[in-house]
Amino acid sequence: SGTPAPAAETVSAVASRVYLAVALDVPLPGLFDYSHDRPVPPGVRVRVMFGRRAMVGMVWAVRDAPGVAAERVRPIEAVLDDVPPMPADWLRLAEFAAHYYHRPLGEVLLPVLPPSLRRPGAYTGARSAGGPVCRADRRPGTSRAARKRKGGADAGAVDAAAGENAAACPAPDPARDGEGPVLTAAQACALEGLQDLLAAGSGVALLHGVTGSGKTELYLRLARRVRAAGRQVLLLVPEINLTPQLEHSVRARLGDRLAVIHSRLSEGDRLRAWLRASRGQADILLGTRLALFTPLPRLGLIVVDEEHDASYKQQDGLRYSARDLAVWRGHDLKIPVVLGSATPSLETWRHAQEGGYRLLSLPERAQAQPLPEIRLVDTRRARLEQGFTPQLLDALEARLAQGGQSLVFINRRGYAPVLRCASCAWVSQCRRCTAHMVLHRPGGRHVLQCHHCGDAMPVPRACPECGDPDIQPMGRGTQRVEEFLAERFPGARVLRIDADATRLKGSAEALFARAHAGEADILVGTQMVSKGHDFARLGLVGVLNADAMLFSQDFRAPERLFAQLMQVAGRAGRRQGGAEVMVQTDYPDQAVYQALLRHDYQRFAAHCLEERRDLGLPPFSSQALLTAQADRVRDALDFLEAARARARALPEAAGVRVHDPVPLRIVRVARVERAQLLFESDGRGALHRLLRALLPGLDELARGVVQHWGIEIDPQEI
Ligand code: ADP
Ligand code: ZN
Ligand code: ZN
Repeated sequence: SGTPAPAAETVSAVASRVYLAVALDVPLPGLFDYSHDRPVPPGVRVRVMFGRRAMVGMVWAVRDAPGVAAERVRPIEAVLDDVPPMPADWLRLAEFAAHYYHRPLGEVLLPVLPPSLRRPGAYTGARSAGGPVCRADRRPGTSRAARKRKGGADAGAVDAAAGENAAACPAPDPARDGEGPVLTAAQACALEGLQDLLAAGSGVALLHGVTGSGKTELYLRLARRVRAAGRQVLLLVPEINLTPQLEHSVRARLGDRLAVIHSRLSEGDRLRAWLRASRGQADILLGTRLALFTPLPRLGLIVVDEEHDASYKQQDGLRYSARDLAVWRGHDLKIPVVLGSATPSLETWRHAQEGGYRLLSLPERAQAQPLPEIRLVDTRRARLEQGFTPQLLDALEARLAQGGQSLVFINRRGYAPVLRCASCAWVSQCRRCTAHMVLHRPGGRHVLQCHHCGDAMPVPRACPECGDPDIQPMGRGTQRVEEFLAERFPGARVLRIDADATRLKGSAEALFARAHAGEADILVGTQMVSKGHDFARLGLVGVLNADAMLFSQDFRAPERLFAQLMQVAGRAGRRQGGAEVMVQTDYPDQAVYQALLRHDYQRFAAHCLEERRDLGLPPFSSQALLTAQADRVRDALDFLEAARARARALPEAAGVRVHDPVPLRIVRVARVERAQLLFESDGRGALHRLLRALLPGLDELARGVVQHWGIEIDPQEI
């Protein structure tokens, strides 16, 4: 299928060797020299021996001479020409990411590829058979396509995948496939602004719209336009598994020249989607953060929905922000980028306030449903029954009587966060972590589980310290709330949706389907239910335990709490009026709750930005976090102390604040102790210059002292 070999095989092969700088995914800086009998263009995968291991690497450059003695340079084993060379703009993106996040190129170029393209021997293009062959069609996930198809992928699978996608969803409905509903005035106005952006060819827009204001509708219209102009659209979402409705509407409106990429796809499905997008066979690529690194030859628009969502930040390996890289990619390609949110991140909001991003607002819901009424229920003097105020219980009762649906939101899974002895000081502590073991009651069995290291153990019959059999669960999580509500409202159908209830394949879809079909009167859920779902009959949302997030050390905690509460409140009353949200709190006067009452993001953002400006925190400064792990936290702190001393001695330290090293709040996880050191500067430049001077020497400082160290740029959790 037209995959060009990187270099034509000729009879008169050049006798001299060519040296290639190859990127490998190994924890060593720099590129590696290999030789070949002819040049291989950058962006081509090659199979090489690294030590005794066969690995897939990527050619970065052709060199006249190797960096080591020529006789030590090994030849490459094979040129993998099953896919075309990675395009120049993709290589630029990866190079920028490696540079910005201070990682070796190989740790970017290879991990972002579909797994089958980075294992030696996993994939051979098999072009003659009419399609690629993936030898290891592993399927860890539960994609629709994966469940429909029996057996592994075979030749021609790319073409088959297109047909399959079409069969899995209803065909586009001609009645809806036009331009969709008549736009509201606000939508029309915002669309005009977005079209200006398209016409201008580049720029970033922030689409700030309350939940249900019709942001998705605008993405779809823009996407149609961009596609009609022969270009591709990249639509990024925080989590696809939780928002099947979005995938449905994208398919219904934009048809099946759509590819979907997320981490729960099987390897084969992920490869097929990646190939369709990178060959330009798909016009729309819908995906989670990892989709950002897909080559798209005709890319004309990037949309980042729910741009504030923490899921855009990768939390291990290359700790990149897909939102930030999306903005960079758009800028590099001179194409527009649209960031959408009801509660934009303060970084984005500041850009919009200062004019760097174009601000477009949708202040009202599209279907003329008023936003739900939000009430703060003061818990300070309330007589609580299992954590519920009488007001919330009455409201639940009233909704039940009307046949409406309610949601009780509590961001804590399990039965109770800790087990405690009534007569001594014993609490259920994890042996491996500085954290409590959480009581779980899966199907009536009791077990203690650590949410940090995964360790589990049976519940002791009596206190391990004093032998008192009276050990009690303290506090509550979703399971206990579910149990209590089922007892309190015997006629009600209570359905719990959290990470435990949805662990099995396909169970999330099944639970959400039951909730949507109205087979539940009271939903009990974590933040999992707050994302993107449109429950038709949901009229009441009760929020328990919101205060837990209020006094976290992390300066972003109020911002996150506000976003989460706005999001969960946004689930209510999307189809009919009269919806209410009740937030139980001990601190009703806090700014975050007062702003929430009024659905007033702008005021809250202004308040937070003012605070951050006073304290010199992001977005008014740039941060980087150096973390260290050791057997004992003392060693981690010593290493960070030495790093700090070294940093301060460098001329590049001017203008950079280097804080004191501190242990992490949960200092020990799985017997490893952790500490961190924060760097902060008003401008990005100074911070990065210091890191570039400091980091190369840290391996030497770390040797024999810490197990591991790492740097995180723009950390989201401090
Ligand atoms: P958001 O993405 O801002 O949360 P959606 O785009 O999902 O909002 O829109 C919320 C609901 O309103 C959806 O059911 C959508 O079909 C509907 N909707 C959007 N725009 C309009 C419109 N102009 N007229 C009628 N309904 C609309
Ligand atoms: Zn005891
Ligand atoms: Zn643990």
